[in-house]
Amino acid sequence: MAGLEDLYREIILDHHRNPRNRGELPPPAPHAVGHNPLCGDEIEVYLQVEDGRVTDIKVGGQGCSISQSSASMMSQAIKGKPVADVQALVRRFKGMMSIPDADGNEIEPDPEVKLGDLEALQGVVKYPVRIKCAILGWNTLLEALEQV
Ligand code: ZN
Repeated sequence: MAGLEDLYREIILDHHRNPRNRGELPPPAPHAVGHNPLCGDEIEVYLQVEDGRVTDIKVGGQGCSISQSSASMMSQAIKGKPVADVQALVRRFKGMMSIPDADGNEIEPDPEVKLGDLEALQGVVKYPVRIKCAILGWNTLLEALEQV
């Protein structure tokens, strides 16, 4: 019987092999590019936001399986969601990655915010170098949201 770690590995591989919402959106779509020089990862995020809701997202870039699958899962998780819910999910995900908030405090998990497939990435927290890979798409998403 496959254990939880095998299931998580399978989810990450699936998103790496078949990245969701891959592509780009034409200007003037909010767009940001993020780099993780430690690993050579690059992520591009294109957004379409209408009436306070992320109605479309496209992801481009290249890099390791953690960076690419995390961005793929992110795109799937936020598409169609109100921007406020997206911000809450970013916060929840950063908390799972043990990244403190802007004031340097630990982020308490909000039980109302569901992670879904993103839980597959929780093992990454044991490898601090990989946290930068996992968080890259999310920080790029925040940069793109600032342009909305
Ligand atoms: Zn990486």
